[in-house]
Amino acid sequence: MGQDMNNDQGQVTTTVIRNCDWIVAWDAATSSHVYLENADFAFAGNEIIHVGPGYPGTAEVEQDGRGVMLMPGFVNIHSHPGHEPGWKGMLEELGSRRLGQSSLYEFMPVFNIGPKYARHACRVAISELLRSGVTTICDLAAPREDWVGDYEPTGIRAVLWAMHRSGAWRTRNGHSVEYDLDTERGDRLMLEAIKVADDASKHPSGLISGYFGPAQIDTCTEGQIMGALEAARERGQPIQIHAAQSIVEFQEIVRRTGCTPIEWLEKIGALGPDTVIGHCIFLNDHPWLHWPQGNDFQRLVESGAQVAHCPVVFARRGIALNTLARYVDAGIPVGIGTDSFPHNMLDELRMACYAGRIVAGSFTAAPTSYAFSAATHVGADIIRRPDLGRLAVGCKADFSIVDMGNPYMQPDYDPIRSIVYSANDRAIRDVYVDGRQVVANGQLLHFDIGNDIEMLRQGQRDVIKTAAERDWAGRQIEELTPRVYAIKKS
Ligand SMILES: [Zn+2]
Repeated sequence: MGQDMNNDQGQVTTTVIRNCDWIVAWDAATSSHVYLENADFAFAGNEIIHVGPGYPGTAEVEQDGRGVMLMPGFVNIHSHPGHEPGWKGMLEELGSRRLGQSSLYEFMPVFNIGPKYARHACRVAISELLRSGVTTICDLAAPREDWVGDYEPTGIRAVLWAMHRSGAWRTRNGHSVEYDLDTERGDRLMLEAIKVADDASKHPSGLISGYFGPAQIDTCTEGQIMGALEAARERGQPIQIHAAQSIVEFQEIVRRTGCTPIEWLEKIGALGPDTVIGHCIFLNDHPWLHWPQGNDFQRLVESGAQVAHCPVVFARRGIALNTLARYVDAGIPVGIGTDSFPHNMLDELRMACYAGRIVAGSFTAAPTSYAFSAATHVGADIIRRPDLGRLAVGCKADFSIVDMGNPYMQPDYDPIRSIVYSANDRAIRDVYVDGRQVVANGQLLHFDIGNDIEMLRQGQRDVIKTAAERDWAGRQIEELTPRVYAIKKS
């Protein structure tokens, strides 16, 4: 428990926010969020003790809730903050023309800013996340030195999701992908990831948990996937694995096994409620695959496996899930992650709604409630934290205060629609994690990213200088990713 939640006598501090215009509250009877008007919200220490009209008790801290909306903190179940921020300006419209439009194989290895800048990238990402109302982040990455230390000062709640694999992919010609796999090393890295995760979970703040998982379906052996799954089950945790994330990977798994990625996961025993599938877009019935022979969707539904949906990064390359409503209506738990920059969950929510509707050609294919639930209580359940993602008595005090006075929020017939479709993070005024305020008036309270931005700029300059050395065709940066307009030399 943070010290600023206690008063001088060491007792737990109680805070009440009275007469909130709106509260997005949890209704246990319907297992759904509901709107409350003119209601009170109180928390003691890190725990919510009242959500509803007329808080009867006293409190050391009294706030006026008129002119604000309280909503649960977002749970971001899939992101890579240790490198993604370094790619700003370079990857927004970059894909491989001959590798299914993905950027994974030809460009990711070229643009990587490297571990030297991971902490700075991470802090920049966290600053964006907190200010867009994210209170829990899942950071999927290969373990790095003092990973926990990147998080300590920030105040965000974090799942450090230690990824392991047998090796990386590469292309030497821009049209075929090779894998440098060392399975013995991969087996060792699996054990290391489990150890790193277990150690992270011991952090005394109570804000950090360690999970682990096989990084990608095409870079891990069956033994590594099942080994991780069994170890995760012993700990009551899920694994997360990238799968069905590109056409190249779909074809690669078919080439190796004769199965689609979903069929293969089922065949080895890895498709089930303890598995979170990162992206899970390319099921055999995705209309852009033309692969009618299969039953991936039904297998997924019956297995109880869960999906981490990251719509923005795929929309950049013309790729989308088919569709959010189809998955959710069939009972597949779908959470939302930012994956890339901007680290802004409200952007993801809006894109989830628009992309689903465009893919289906139907305005009903991605309702706002599905996206908002995915980003809150469904995501929380996926990471086995039913005390997060909802404003209910007994849950953790992880929430945002939205300024209803922001012009983008008005008129306010439906305040969630106002923030998702109009106001975005501009209206998020204050954010609390575990009962402790981390953002006030849109500003970070516990850390500063000025130096991190400088380092990130340096990291990007390094990439620009050396990109040609890593590119299969030896291209300079301007050729790899031309600017929107050329710089005119005087
Ligand atoms: Zn990812």
